[in-house]
Amino acid sequence: MNDATTPTAPAATNFIDDIIAEHKRTDRFGGRVHTRFPPEPNGYLHIGHAKSICLNFGTAAKYGGLCNLRFDDTNPTKEDVEYVDSIQEDVRWLGFSWDERMFFASDYFEQIYAYAVELIRKGSAFVCDLSADDIAAHRGTPTRPGTESPYRNRPVDENLDLFARMRAGEFPDGTRTLRAKIDMASPNMHLRDPIIYRIMHAHHHRTGDAWCIYPMYDFAHGLSDSLEGITHSICTLEFEVHRPLYDWFIEQLGVFHPQQIEFARLNLSYTVMSKRKLLELVRTGRVNGWDDPRMPTICGLRRRGFTPESIRAFADRIGVAKRDNVIDVGVLEHSVREDLNRRAARRMAVLRPLRIVIENFPADRVEEIDAVNNPEDASMGTRKIAFTRELLVERDDFMLEPVKKFHRLAPGAEVRLRYAYIIRCDEVVKDADGAVVELRCSYDPETGIGGAQADRRVKGTIHWVSATHGVNAEVRLYDRLFTVENPDVAPEGLDYTTHLNPHSLEALTDCRLEPSLASAKAGERYQFERLGYFCVDPDSAPGALVFNKTVGLKDTWQKTEKQ
Ligand code: ATP
Ligand code: MG
Repeated sequence: MNDATTPTAPAATNFIDDIIAEHKRTDRFGGRVHTRFPPEPNGYLHIGHAKSICLNFGTAAKYGGLCNLRFDDTNPTKEDVEYVDSIQEDVRWLGFSWDERMFFASDYFEQIYAYAVELIRKGSAFVCDLSADDIAAHRGTPTRPGTESPYRNRPVDENLDLFARMRAGEFPDGTRTLRAKIDMASPNMHLRDPIIYRIMHAHHHRTGDAWCIYPMYDFAHGLSDSLEGITHSICTLEFEVHRPLYDWFIEQLGVFHPQQIEFARLNLSYTVMSKRKLLELVRTGRVNGWDDPRMPTICGLRRRGFTPESIRAFADRIGVAKRDNVIDVGVLEHSVREDLNRRAARRMAVLRPLRIVIENFPADRVEEIDAVNNPEDASMGTRKIAFTRELLVERDDFMLEPVKKFHRLAPGAEVRLRYAYIIRCDEVVKDADGAVVELRCSYDPETGIGGAQADRRVKGTIHWVSATHGVNAEVRLYDRLFTVENPDVAPEGLDYTTHLNPHSLEALTDCRLEPSLASAKAGERYQFERLGYFCVDPDSAPGALVFNKTVGLKDTWQKTEKQ
């Protein structure tokens, strides 16, 4: 589809490459590499999923293999087509293509049911009448063996009959399960006769009411992999202890055997990544939907102004590990800053305006000044900006009583206006309460581009917008959603929500932008000089512009790296 799926420079190798190399050496899969990304459609994808997407699609691309998109839709009560749609949109946006290989575990329900019947026939599965509580009580602990279900030795025919009647809808939810017959004394709890089917009279977003029994994830997942001919089933570390079960089902049934490989999930500082918590933030209105720019969801990052390239670069940069770790959110911010520095056009915007009047500049004059669009990329050209008698500058760029080393505007001080002239602040106008409302300034006409004093130096340069030609905008500033590095750790009796940052969103409604931004379209990204990178929000319209701050200019991560 695009360059993300065609390998360019050889990517760095990781432990998964070593496993693939070994498989090639032993000819385990005839040289094939076929992966899959298997989301459960029970929420929107987040940056952790992006890591898995880049790894699965990226590994396939690296070896000229294939990667499927498979929805693991075995839990109808939590799933929804809204999620199915958003997941496809997000994977595509990241730059990956599954071509025609989009699958659903629910497409295999009939086959998976047949596999279960086969296990029963072999004496490897039985219908159990214990309640969920009883099953839990019988499980034992990691150091103490469990006890066998009294139904464990049901004759095969009785099991076949009961399982068929479970499917036919004869029994209420929770009254019976189908369990694998493995080993109640296994030190691996997952092998203690795990449940493989449960009764659930629930409507499924794809199969409707065709089923009232649903396979458990552990059963459906490996068999779906096998049915699709997946060679390398890459999953997160918590599934390492499930691998013996994954292998057991496949071996019992004698079907194609993929290799499960575990890697460390992505954890980010100042971020919660659990879908349950993200859903809760949305449902309780603590954020404005899944695509709130403060969310670590892919749609949130997109709305915030992240590029797919920056997310892929982030995934490459952090690599894949076999041990759990926490990545500094600054690494993610660094990736988008680096990408936007190359690509985003520069513009001037004043977020908290202070009016200045250039008293020696005629009221009816408009000077069109050339400004470069991107000093990193000359091909992006220049644009015209209007210099007029009345201008707006940032309130922060003025101090009535300047502190040491403040090289911006102050009474009597000189400063250069970016791309334009040096001005001096001659008079400060205050209102009845003593608040500064306007500065009266004068400009030095010789200090403009091409002027006799064009090179005259002053210590500070500030940005500005014409008060008469600038356009109004709302600019939304974001801070981290949580105030602590690990929001999942909370004091006794409290949860992660206690760490929510009450100042994570600040909407500034009186901002003024240079006129060239009047027709900015949703999704466009700019650098506002001296302020950071900003992206036009989907809520934006001509005459009612809305921008989101993507990230500031200061790189916190590189700084710590260099220390
Ligand atoms: P849950 O299973 O609790 O609903 P999940 O985050 O595991 O949540 P899935 O839809 O099952 O959600 O995930 C799809 C794929 O993304 C899985 O292969 C999973 O391992 C991977 N994945 C999920 N979270 C992360 C993460 N933080 N880092 C890397 N990969 C992840
Ligand atoms: Mg999962």
